[in-house]
Amino acid sequence: MTSANDDLKALVRTIPDFPKPGIQFRDLTTLLLDAAGFRATIDRLVASVDGKVDLVAAIDARGFAIGGAMAREMSAGLLLVRKDGKLPGNTIAEDYVLEYGTDRLAMHVDAIASGNRVLLVDDLIATGGTALAAARLVERAGGQLIGARFIIDLPDLGGSAKLRDKGIEAMSLMEFPGG
Ligand code: AMP
Repeated sequence: MTSANDDLKALVRTIPDFPKPGIQFRDLTTLLLDAAGFRATIDRLVASVDGKVDLVAAIDARGFAIGGAMAREMSAGLLLVRKDGKLPGNTIAEDYVLEYGTDRLAMHVDAIASGNRVLLVDDLIATGGTALAAARLVERAGGQLIGARFIIDLPDLGGSAKLRDKGIEAMSLMEFPGG
């Protein structure tokens, strides 16, 4: 699907050396600002999903913008997977490794009814640490993870391969080489 989305890829801005030297930050805010580009992004992600989705599990924070629009379009519910400490009810949490240190994602323990078909959504997959932590939460909460969708894959960082190794069907609209 990659070359089919060159129109959308052209709307992603690359900012070198953010947030630190050596990182090529793939900035989606320019894609989201483009009305036709945003609509096409959501339409194409939705079209890539087969079968019924009960819940879209969107990852804090850019995942919320994309997952929210997808859930509305798919008549699915929206599950917010948040950074730790933000949710008011009883939560479960999973740690994941960042380049320096760790971070923690959380979700409400009662957010998923047993057997719900859940689609994971985030803006970008790099090393896959974030998406795998969210996948563990969905599975711990009794959800059936039917796949994962991203706008951007950085395949050289290995995250999408890790998801597939775990049997999670993963698809992105576009890829960028390197990290
Ligand atoms: P990871 O856990 O390594 O797969 O990182 C994924 C998360 O980090 C996503 O939520 C992205 O928003 C963010 N991220 C990682 N690398 C980049 C990058 N090069 N450009 C933009 N966002 C990034």
